[in-house]
Amino acid sequence: MDLSITYIIDKAKEGKEISKDEVAELLSVKSDRDRTELFSAASSVRDRIFGNKVFIYGFVYFSTYCRNNCAFCYYRRTNKLNRYRKSEDEVLALSGSLKDAGINLVDLTMGEDPVMCAEDYSDLLRIVRRVKDEVDISVMVSPGAVPEGSFSKFKDAGADWFACYQETYNRELFSKLRLEQDYDERLNQKVWAKKAGILTEDGIMVGLGETLEDRADSIIKMGSLGCEQIRAMTFVPQKGTPMESMRPSEPMDELIAISVMRLLFPDRLIPASLDVEGIAGLKTRLDAGANVITSIVPPHVDLAGVAQHELDIDNGHRSVAHVLSMLDEMGKRSATNTEYESLLKDLKAQNR
Ligand code: SF4
Repeated sequence: MDLSITYIIDKAKEGKEISKDEVAELLSVKSDRDRTELFSAASSVRDRIFGNKVFIYGFVYFSTYCRNNCAFCYYRRTNKLNRYRKSEDEVLALSGSLKDAGINLVDLTMGEDPVMCAEDYSDLLRIVRRVKDEVDISVMVSPGAVPEGSFSKFKDAGADWFACYQETYNRELFSKLRLEQDYDERLNQKVWAKKAGILTEDGIMVGLGETLEDRADSIIKMGSLGCEQIRAMTFVPQKGTPMESMRPSEPMDELIAISVMRLLFPDRLIPASLDVEGIAGLKTRLDAGANVITSIVPPHVDLAGVAQHELDIDNGHRSVAHVLSMLDEMGKRSATNTEYESLLKDLKAQNR
């Protein structure tokens, strides 16, 4: 066993500050013994704070139109594909059925769809308000980058969360990934949302060509921004994009990043996304310290995922019922909506 790994883990568990080099050291663990030690430390930190409760998010990717051209994304503007935009009533019905199935939150996600961005997001704001009022469920909105003045409108419409992933905190790499987009404007999404009183989620992608030091730096900066939910997701090369032929990275690096985020930022919500390996990746992500299940997509309603647009959707393995039965087998349980809403109330009151 690498003693320096044990030393850094112990330091983190005691709440002491961990340097960027030490974070990079944790991210580089190779042996099974060191990885097992890291995962088990992260899970025990998570269990100490959250017990066996797991939060469940339904994913409603309601428009795959996008005006942007991110180099890594299947839905980039120039990729020729069949796109869809769900109607307001369809979004309402999907959100309602996800709630009935047992989710804690609906994540309303879209590409930067010019139709939805028009008239200062009036259609999107109406959808958020209706899901909040008529379905009566917590709402995350993921509309891409929006102007500073719009955040108070999202707040008034009832959005609990605003999600906007930086993907990397290396500015040079950012400019190669999020083409023609402004690094600071994207970073400010989180700052502006917080100022408006909305909880925030940020995320990084793992295996996009970043170094271990970049990854360490991104995790530290993302957590230090105070986002209440932080995530790491493995880059999956997408057909028709400039990064199509890049070698896919190992999901193991994502698991390690999840554990490191948990050790550094014990009380944050950290997703186990089904969007990389489908349901097969659920247990490993929870074992690494995650406590939210995201990218739950109901079958047979023609909704897509992001990184894996079809994987495990129509066979129902990304449905709420299947996830709940797997949680049961793992000795975990989904939080009730009362528990989740009470957590959000506390997080909003802390306003990190
Ligand atoms: S990552 Fe988002 S903003 Fe970028 S092309 Fe894809 S959908 Fe559009």
